[in-house]
Amino acid sequence: MTNSKETMQNCKLCKTQIADKRNSHIIPKFMCKRLFENANPRHSIQVSKDGIQTKLQDIPKENHIFCSRCENRLGKIESYFSKVFTDVNSLQNARRKYKLENIQNQEILHCEDINPSMFYLFLYSLIWRCSISKDLLFDTFSIESNIEEEIRVFLNNNLQELHSDLLEHSRKIENIPNYYLCLIKPKYKTRGIFSAYNFGPNSYAIYTVDYALFFYTKEKDCPAEHKLFGNSMNETFKIIIGNDESWKELNNLVVQNMLDYKKPLVPAIEHK
Ligand SMILES: [Zn+2]
Repeated sequence: MTNSKETMQNCKLCKTQIADKRNSHIIPKFMCKRLFENANPRHSIQVSKDGIQTKLQDIPKENHIFCSRCENRLGKIESYFSKVFTDVNSLQNARRKYKLENIQNQEILHCEDINPSMFYLFLYSLIWRCSISKDLLFDTFSIESNIEEEIRVFLNNNLQELHSDLLEHSRKIENIPNYYLCLIKPKYKTRGIFSAYNFGPNSYAIYTVDYALFFYTKEKDCPAEHKLFGNSMNETFKIIIGNDESWKELNNLVVQNMLDYKKPLVPAIEHK
């Protein structure tokens, strides 16, 4: 129920404007679309940390978390990446240049034409939104408050309202929050699960049908292969193209990790 007398809160991104927007997406529409396609009945499966499966009927939306300007700024980086991901889905028609490399039987896509800052802006915006979301779906996804704030400031300082400004500005971005990101895309179309959760200490995953994004805030908790195939600052951004087998393994591993990791999510150091 909406109470009209209720004072609207300030936008969670800029913290200065009133959060007047309704139906803000936590995960961009283009990343969720396939969740609701070709499925009969038309729903997707969401797996909670306890392994409980629920039907997901629609893309989760949230009211009054952003102001119009910030919603627009998030929209600009999303529309850029909806085109990048179209490229990645069909490399032969790609408009940008990518280099496919094979390391230890693993295909790695180097996104040579894209400023790595753009990837950090986009992927951090996903991680940050999952963390601040009050939607039950993201209940099991919460990053440490100081890192959440560091990422908010990074996004707030660098997201732009105009596409041209965003491209121009992305070349000048410094001081990107330095954490471990690993982005995996299955080679062939598979129908997966949707989930966002902490799966270990300082370890986070966001799973959409087409992508798995792993985020580690401490080096010691980042598995060697995610470090090897993951991303480090000032380098061309890499996307792992997982073959069917490794994608299936990863799916199973993700579900297993969720079942295994039921302990309190907040690391001891966080308790005040
Ligand atoms: Zn705002």
